[in-house]
This record gives sequence, structure tokens and C-alpha cells, in this order.
Amino acid sequence: MIPMKEAKPAAKRFYRKRVELFRLIDKIKIWPSRTGVLHGIRSVDKRGDIAIITTHCNETFTVRNSRNSRAARWLRNKWFKSVCPACRVPDWKLEKYASTRFKRHFGSDLSRRAD
Ligand SMILES: [Zn+2]
Repeated sequence: MIPMKEAKPAAKRFYRKRVELFRLIDKIKIWPSRTGVLHGIRSVDKRGDIAIITTHCNETFTVRNSRNSRAARWLRNKWFKSVCPACRVPDWKLEKYASTRFKRHFGSDLSRRAD
């Protein structure tokens, strides 16, 4: 028997690692640029395995639907350096984004809450 406390986060991580990039961005509508700036996504134009992302500040990014790309990894790990001032990503969205990280790491990462 596996205790509930241990089984739960493991199951969650498994699911998240398998999530496709396009599904991830459809859901959170946030895009991390290569420089670590978080943008709000205005529209996603999917063309097969490629998507053209337009942000609220009118930048466009062409991305591949890969689970292992830099962006997919950053989104999964909730990494970013700053938030685009032009996109005006609402606070509730950022809080949601951040709180997901704490859930994912569960008890193991509590010390990072200070930063
Ligand atoms: Zn922006």
C-alpha cells in the first residue's frame, strides 16, 4: 500500500510532464520569451505542428508543439525573470501560475517561497 500523501504529487507530476506545449499555452495563455519575460497571449494560430503566438504587446513567436522545448520546460517549471509591462498580465493569472508551482513541488520546495 502506498500512503495517499506520497501517491498524489507523483501522479500529478507524471501528468504534467506529458502535457503538450499547445495544450499548456491554451490553458494558461502565458508565453515566456527567450529572455525570461512573461507575455500574455492574445491569439494562437495553429498550423499543424507549428503555432504562431501573438502576444498582447504585438510580438509574435513561432513555436513547435514539443514537450521538450525550452518554453515547455519553462512553463512546466514556472520559470520567468520578469513580466512584460506592455502585456499587463493580470495579477490573478500570475498568482495562479505561481501557486501551481508550489503545488507541484509540494513540501520539498517550501524554502523558495521567501523569494
Ligand atoms: Zn508582452
